[in-house]
Amino acid sequence: MALKDEIYKLVQLQNVDSQIYHLKSKKETEIPAALETLKNEFESRKKDFEVFSEKLKQLQVKKKEKELDLATKEENVKKSQGQLFQLKSNKEYHAKLTEIASLKADVSLLEEDVLKALDEIETADKKAKEEKEALAEEEKKYKETEAKLKSELADIDAKIKSLEENKVSVAKDIDKNVLNKYERLIKTRYGRAMAPVDASTENCGACNMKVTAQKINEIKMYDQLVFCESCVRILYLPEDFSL
Ligand SMILES: [Zn+2]
Repeated sequence: MALKDEIYKLVQLQNVDSQIYHLKSKKETEIPAALETLKNEFESRKKDFEVFSEKLKQLQVKKKEKELDLATKEENVKKSQGQLFQLKSNKEYHAKLTEIASLKADVSLLEEDVLKALDEIETADKKAKEEKEALAEEEKKYKETEAKLKSELADIDAKIKSLEENKVSVAKDIDKNVLNKYERLIKTRYGRAMAPVDASTENCGACNMKVTAQKINEIKMYDQLVFCESCVRILYLPEDFSL
């Protein structure tokens, strides 16, 4: 096959390789990153909910402690009141009355504490229920998006497979040496081996550096591959192929 025809084939091959490169970067970088972000966001939301639930539990424990404390103090008040009538002296009687008054003051403080704790629990409980619903909704969205991304990955695999097959058929008549050079560039130049020379600016279409008139003449001779001096990609003239 004449070199000019081979270069035309390489341009076609480049089209296929560009698509493959784009799909692979989506498959290997973009989608995994999106999946990771999605997972981290959900996990962090879940963690917040767990911390809040733990706080609610602690409030309930605190309330229970206050209630036990209250019951004990109330028991003590009853006990002390029962003792009043067994006391012999006036002094002892008055001392007991003072003790009972102090216990009653404690009881009333504890009652306030319990009521306050009940209020806090009620508010926290309401918020926990709302958070739980929001989290369930979030999880549903998370799973849906995850499934969508995973199915996109499967689609990409199928597309890449079909493009690879397409590549084989385009590449089959290209000279082995030419093809090897092209493939090496594809691997080392971010999936891009071919660079069109812009007809009006005479710049390399990949790196934008000026291509010399001598190089352009060399390209037109079509007896060897001509590389950009700056980015070392294979140069071609789109107008020669009506591109
Ligand atoms: Zn270049």
